[in-house]
Amino acid sequence: MSKTESSPSNFIRNIIEKDLEKNKNNSRVATRFPPEPNGYLHTGHAKSICLNFGIAAEHEGGICYLRFDDTNPSKEDIEYTEAIKSDVRWLGFNWGNRLRHASDYFEQLYNYAVQLIKKDKAYVCSLGADQIREYRGTLKAPGKESPYRTRSIEENLDLFVRMRAGEFEDGAHVLRAKIDMASPNLNMRDPVIYRIKHVSHHRTGDKWCIYPMYDFTHCLSDSIECITHSLCTLEYEDHRPLYDWFLDQLEVDCHPQQIEFARLNLSYTIMSKRKLLKIVENGVVSGWDDPRMPTISGMRRRGYTPEAIRNFCERIGVGKKESTVDIALLEYCIREDLNRWTPRVMGVIRPLKVVIDNYPEDLVEELDGPLHPEDADMGTRKLPFSRVIYIERDDFREEAPKKFYRLVPGREVRLRYAYYIKCVDLVKDEKTGAVIEVHCTYDPESRGGSSPDGRRVKGTIHWVSAAHSLKAEIRLYDRLFLKENPGDLPGDVPEAIPKAIITDDSAFMASLNPGSLETLKDSRVEPYLAAAKPESRYQFERIGYFCVDSKDSTEERLVFNRTVTLRDSWAKIQKNEAHKKKGRIKKN
Ligand code: ATP
Ligand code: MG
Repeated sequence: MSKTESSPSNFIRNIIEKDLEKNKNNSRVATRFPPEPNGYLHTGHAKSICLNFGIAAEHEGGICYLRFDDTNPSKEDIEYTEAIKSDVRWLGFNWGNRLRHASDYFEQLYNYAVQLIKKDKAYVCSLGADQIREYRGTLKAPGKESPYRTRSIEENLDLFVRMRAGEFEDGAHVLRAKIDMASPNLNMRDPVIYRIKHVSHHRTGDKWCIYPMYDFTHCLSDSIECITHSLCTLEYEDHRPLYDWFLDQLEVDCHPQQIEFARLNLSYTIMSKRKLLKIVENGVVSGWDDPRMPTISGMRRRGYTPEAIRNFCERIGVGKKESTVDIALLEYCIREDLNRWTPRVMGVIRPLKVVIDNYPEDLVEELDGPLHPEDADMGTRKLPFSRVIYIERDDFREEAPKKFYRLVPGREVRLRYAYYIKCVDLVKDEKTGAVIEVHCTYDPESRGGSSPDGRRVKGTIHWVSAAHSLKAEIRLYDRLFLKENPGDLPGDVPEAIPKAIITDDSAFMASLNPGSLETLKDSRVEPYLAAAKPESRYQFERIGYFCVDSKDSTEERLVFNRTVTLRDSWAKIQKNEAHKKKGRIKKN
């Protein structure tokens, strides 16, 4: 496949094009997406998936592996592995027969470690974890060599074999690379490459009690798969010398090129599996796939489409500079896609009863309503109309300013695809005084919503027939966080980063939006939706885009998730607030 017009160039694509021109890697392109199965994938991962699988698909014979980085047995879970596979597939990518696990390579990795020992490039260190940290030094102070650094090759080999055989407790020894304790790059100060962990692994069971560390595993897994371009996020830039060091020392045939790009950060969102897990564990949301979660499965359940997410990933581009993308852009991409193809239907989310006094009591008319204003091919559906209907409570006001072009006593309004109606009377709750029923008359000459005599009405409102409509539960979602930056940090803070710069973990919990979910139990939708299947998406006219919930919706009781509102009301509010602020606070 050649590069499509919709794929704008970026620095990674440029590097690959140049490599292909030079016939580097025998003109092969091989990438991988390497998730750690310790949580569900989020929007940031979507960027990486689109990039890696996208680049492979753009090139003739290009391939992309899905490789689970399963080197930390205590945090991993089969549930996560399955969810990750399902998410990648749903996004529209296919790994074919290229599903791999770092654990597939445990034996090879062990042999590589033995090779390093034999070359005197690795040693067994018996310092405790705290001491290792202490000896490592800081950015300003050089590290100190471990007293075990001078162990003989024979002793190291013997100890490493016995580590594998299970002779030692967790933490008794580690295997370390022998590089340079004075290196300005902390990653090069004799990093640990194997640790003892008497923990079962979800794939290898109890076969291993030593597990390789990320840096060692990653570059070698890339090499084993003959990856050409190993794309990772910027926090791994400082790890690149180590990536190259292992491959150089081991003189492997295939030495992939690591290229770093800026991770995706989204406003009002956190993107770290560790933090998202906290939200799940604390019961703030119903699970990893709660429609408020920035996970791929959450976005799916909410009604986002893979096309829109892929399109978003293209639009944000790939660069070298950290930045935060406005979540409004993601929502824009969702609207843009849904607007194109979703059927238009009528749903009344907060119903108010309207009785049309002069409409025959036993008459039911079947009115036509097109399913899409610009796409006639989508056809029409029948809208039953009868004497008692529901309209949106917000579309009625007892007293209203002139510009309120909806239903007001004495004024006329158009019912979409139906008739002109005029409000003539009200019924109020005796105790509260709230309007519980509105009485209207209709003009039989205005059938279909057209003007009988050139008389104009400004407003058009939606409605459903009371007797024919279906009960539905509507879930309105808002941002999960109130703050633009809920205190996010890269998920895995490398050990080398001083603990002090990690903000308090509760920071993001404090900015959770308590109003992020509003559930409406008594909504009504038109009968056309009786056939709505889980995950089908619609535009409720004048309200927003909705998706049938995949878990809780039943034929008896439909449940709809609001995917996104029609217009960006949020941005508008923000803008107004910014204006207000500007007025109050003088710029200096
Ligand atoms: P998290 O902080 O959520 O745990 P991670 O980087 O530890 O993220 P991995 O499962 O190790 O998660 O990531 C798999 C791949 O996805 C890696 O190549 C990683 O660089 C990439 N990735 C993770 N987060 C982002 C992001 N926000 N933007 C772009 N790519 C990302
Ligand atoms: Mg990680």
